[in-house]
Amino acid sequence: MSEPEALVTGIVGDQAEEWDRTGRIPIETLRELGKGGWLCAQVGTAHGGPGLDSLRNGRFTAHVGSLCSSLRSVMTSQGMAAWIVQRLGGAGQRATLLPALAAGTLAAVGFSEPGAGSDLGAMATTIRDEGDTVVVDGRKMWITAAAYADLLVLFGRYGSGGAVVVVPCDAPGLEITPLDDVLGCRAAGHAGLVLDNVRVRRENLLDSAGAPLSLLATVGLTYGRMSVAWGCVGILDGCLGAAVRHATTREQFGRALSEHQLVAGHLADLYVAGQVARRICEHASRCWDEGSPELATAAVLAKHVSATQAATGAATAVQVLGGAGARDSSLVARAYRDAKLMEIIEGSNELSRLALAEDVVRRAP
Ligand code: FAD
Repeated sequence: MSEPEALVTGIVGDQAEEWDRTGRIPIETLRELGKGGWLCAQVGTAHGGPGLDSLRNGRFTAHVGSLCSSLRSVMTSQGMAAWIVQRLGGAGQRATLLPALAAGTLAAVGFSEPGAGSDLGAMATTIRDEGDTVVVDGRKMWITAAAYADLLVLFGRYGSGGAVVVVPCDAPGLEITPLDDVLGCRAAGHAGLVLDNVRVRRENLLDSAGAPLSLLATVGLTYGRMSVAWGCVGILDGCLGAAVRHATTREQFGRALSEHQLVAGHLADLYVAGQVARRICEHASRCWDEGSPELATAAVLAKHVSATQAATGAATAVQVLGGAGARDSSLVARAYRDAKLMEIIEGSNELSRLALAEDVVRRAP
């Protein structure tokens, strides 16, 4: 086990089930991981981060995902916020914000709105200049980690284009309402936001303001897709471990469940699901690390395949555990609820398939 993996294993311990039940990860836990830069591990060493490449960060993300998808979701938001600043901010913004994020200032990222889910082109939040300030008005839905955040990285309309603005969570006019009845990733700090005439300093507007909204959103979503995809590898690792432990220790009809061929078949299916997801994530991370022009499609593919495998795999794991997997407190029941959400976020299964089909048609000779 690598050093960050050992650190996070020690910090999570046996608390994931309690965090899921209470809907809360202690803020001190997030700060402890955050201060070492482990919530956004691809931030470079020049900015005080661990500087992992995508492949190593992916494997670390999978490890966190195998322990607790809520914590992994918070990591996805923090890493995505850092990546957005890295790519869409100017040098001065990178110099200020990246060291803060790598030192544990917590951030959440907001694209979605009541009227703009799959169709981010329908975003209605506005960002406008007023003197030496920037004013933000609108609503955001489903913002992971917003209940823990110090900063919000928000997308909106800016004139005829788009922009990203960094809003401190104590800004007047900002209301954050945590969601307490989410199907899965229950401790990920999901919240809705209302922004009523929220005023921030001009330097909080990332330098890329005015670029097309779809272009800006794709930058953030590509990181998010990679992180969710690797998190799903972790869900499958956790499910395989739990299914094998149970199937080799519980006996029915005088022998271990694993010796019944239909149960053995489930174990094989889970193993295959994990391998498929891991290999496709490795491919996407290599595209990232090599700067391949195929990255955007590889990230959609990785997220789509991994989420689908995790949702099916978690259901298989519940089946193997039978009644032992049929309570909220069981690891596989948590995985089952968490994995389903991975088919919705960062581009739903349907939107992913549409994007992949578009890519196939575009490449056709
Ligand atoms: P809709 O867009 O209304 O879609 C409903 C269904 O219709 C889906 O199955 C969808 O695939 C399908 N559909 C829609 N359009 C089409 C089409 N053209 N063709 C075929 N099918 C279609 N957002 C953020 O900005 N930040 C976050 O941190 C964040 N975290 C989230 C965490 C969780 C747990 C969840 C559930 C959501 C989160 N979201 C976040 C929002 C998420 O990105 C949206 O839920 C997602 O984009 C889908 O939008 P929607 O829920 O409005 O569904």
